[in-house]
Amino acid sequence: MILLRTCDELRRWCGPPQRRQRPLNFVPTMGALHPGHLSLISSALQTRPSPNGEVLRPRVLVSLFVNPLQFGPREGFVSYPRDLGADCRTAENAGVEALFAPSEQELFPGGESELTRVIPPPSLMGSLCGRSRPGHFEGVATVVARLLALIRPDCLLLGEKDWQQLVILRRVVADLGLAVEVRGCRTWREPDGLAGSSRNRYLSAQERRQAAALPAALRSVRVRLAAGEPLGEPMVQKLRLDLETAGLIVEYADLVDPASLQPLPTLAGGQRLSLLAVAVRCGSTRLIDHLLLMPRLPIVAIDGPAGAGKSTVTRAFAKQMGLIYLDTGAMYRAVTWWVQRHGVDAADAAAIEPLLTGLELSLEGGGDGDLRVLVNGHDVTVAIRDPSVTAQVSAVAAHACVREGLTRQQQAMGEKGGLVAEGRDIGTAVFPHADLKVFLTATVAERARRRALDLEQRGFAVPPLMDLETQIAERDHLDSSRTIAPLRQAEDAVKLITDGMGVEAVIEALVELFRERVPEDAWPES
Ligand code: C5P
Repeated sequence: MILLRTCDELRRWCGPPQRRQRPLNFVPTMGALHPGHLSLISSALQTRPSPNGEVLRPRVLVSLFVNPLQFGPREGFVSYPRDLGADCRTAENAGVEALFAPSEQELFPGGESELTRVIPPPSLMGSLCGRSRPGHFEGVATVVARLLALIRPDCLLLGEKDWQQLVILRRVVADLGLAVEVRGCRTWREPDGLAGSSRNRYLSAQERRQAAALPAALRSVRVRLAAGEPLGEPMVQKLRLDLETAGLIVEYADLVDPASLQPLPTLAGGQRLSLLAVAVRCGSTRLIDHLLLMPRLPIVAIDGPAGAGKSTVTRAFAKQMGLIYLDTGAMYRAVTWWVQRHGVDAADAAAIEPLLTGLELSLEGGGDGDLRVLVNGHDVTVAIRDPSVTAQVSAVAAHACVREGLTRQQQAMGEKGGLVAEGRDIGTAVFPHADLKVFLTATVAERARRRALDLEQRGFAVPPLMDLETQIAERDHLDSSRTIAPLRQAEDAVKLITDGMGVEAVIEALVELFRERVPEDAWPES
């Protein structure tokens, strides 16, 4: 392992991103390395296939800098534990290739007063720890942004333990347009559940025993929820009482939305992923911890217009994340096939409604992520992709009777979660509480090109591109102008424009968004 002390040495060791042979993963720390840091380092060392399928062992760089900007006047900057020798040995044994340990002078050559500062949005800094630690997150953001600019890593690894910091730094990276993936890693815990933190070494033996009451109180919230108690103010009050009874002083115990950090209306708390965050004092040491509460397995909604490549990427994404794949377009296609088989006009809602009572529609998943579509036990998987079905499906899908029936069936399929559904109205009408909503789209020209390729591969005649563009634009118009559940981007959806992106890159973007929204700590322990 190499020890880097100056910014020049650091720049030379990192090299410019375009000339690097292997990905560079970065773990920022304030030293006093403990097993929590080691678990971040071991995540940073993991190999992952790159978009072109290559598997490369990443280089891991750890920084060690006790950042004066993030300490308040009485927050113990001077007494913060520092032992460079021990940290070097720990990092080297863990497989770190370089440790960057700059002096204050090196990182702030003009002194603190001459520093360009990064000020994250007040909405994110004003809640939880930000209320009692003014300037703290600004100090963190300023230094981490400076380190990222110097290092230009592929991936920044941060612990989910400091949840607010993770949310704020994700935002800083996004707003400054820094090309770095931010990966949140599961909290490492002592055998009694206490979350790993450099501050734990300040605890006396008696305080250390007392501190265990924090994870214990959070665990009992989980138990009470599992027993059916609702998530709301009485539950939070009981948590406070448990902590106080154990002799801890509660600074806050708040139920918030994990992405916006804003208070959650009690009702929504039971519907979607929620964060119950706590800060306490144990003697003179401040401890934080949290629970991520997931009322069911996650649901991902992927909407977008025809031909944006939704099915290919959604199927692969589902397989990679171990989620059930639900192709709702296939269900509307199956109804259309049924309507055509009965010789009924696609525009005639009154004639279509009675046909629905005789229709039993089911989807069967093959092990490879492929779906079989069955109508009354009859396999229509191939038949529903016929261009004659494609031409009429939007008209059929616009009828209230068709939408009501299929929406109900889709919601029943998603009751337990653990699925990714793609369609036109998933994030707006079918699963408005989805944990991640993506609006996947591409220009009409790009979608026509993809449709032509698809038709050719399936052995159909390929109409001129101009005609395909007209057909696609027409279908977009029908889908987005119908009165019930029209195609539109949900307010809280992330828009992904896939022009010029390969399939692998889109899947990778989805995986990254998913990991960001559904943190590792929210999953049940395996
Ligand atoms: O995605 P796919 O092209 O198979 O969808 C076929 C049609 O089904 C869409 O053009 C749309 O009219 C309809 N649909 C819908 N709502 C969904 C999924 C599909 O209206 N959730």
